[in-house]
Amino acid sequence: MEKQGKIFILSGPSGCGKGTVLKSAMREHPDMFLSVSATTRGPRQGEIDGVHYHFIDDDAFLKMIDRDQLLEHAGYAGNFYGTPRIPVDEALDQGRDVMLEIDVQGAQQVYAKRPDAVRIFLAPPSWSELERRLVNRGTDSADKIRQRLTRARDEMALAVDYDYFIINDDVERAAAELNDIFRVEHFKPAERMHLVKD
Ligand code: 5GP
Repeated sequence: MEKQGKIFILSGPSGCGKGTVLKSAMREHPDMFLSVSATTRGPRQGEIDGVHYHFIDDDAFLKMIDRDQLLEHAGYAGNFYGTPRIPVDEALDQGRDVMLEIDVQGAQQVYAKRPDAVRIFLAPPSWSELERRLVNRGTDSADKIRQRLTRARDEMALAVDYDYFIINDDVERAAAELNDIFRVEHFKPAERMHLVKD
């Protein structure tokens, strides 16, 4: 029996450290496909087109929506973000697990289409720490930081809908917890039945 990959979704307020925790956890899962989102946001210093995001303009983004090329999409702090559908489908068909690092609206859209997706919420240790990280990152204006903090409160309220909740008070521990989730999810019967031969 051919085995399809599984979708993992990682959400959490901007600045909670999703990228850093993922980078650390993915070292143990080199086969996992990390989806590269499309966004209309401009690149931050050090961000590479095609690696961190596909940086596109509003027109190109709207065309992707029209052509049904996005698995999900959402507006966030004045910009659009979306997950290109084809690379995700291809990875799943190859039996690879897929990681989507997306916001709560996108997570809801994916879950509506793929209720077998595993939803993981990463939270900052405290509000003051989240604010400190956003300010220290030095990438956003005071206005954008305010927008992101307001959005963070809405997002935290939806964390109860997720399957797993991790607090990022220590990157290595949070990454280890994420890896535990990947392991546990592969012990569920539906994941193992394909191993049983007639
Ligand atoms: P940032 O601008 O800080 O890179 O991302 C802002 C927010 O957008 C983060 O919460 C991030 O997880 C989310 N995000 C990134 N890519 C996508 C995407 O493809 N779809 C959705 N819905 N959210 C995304």
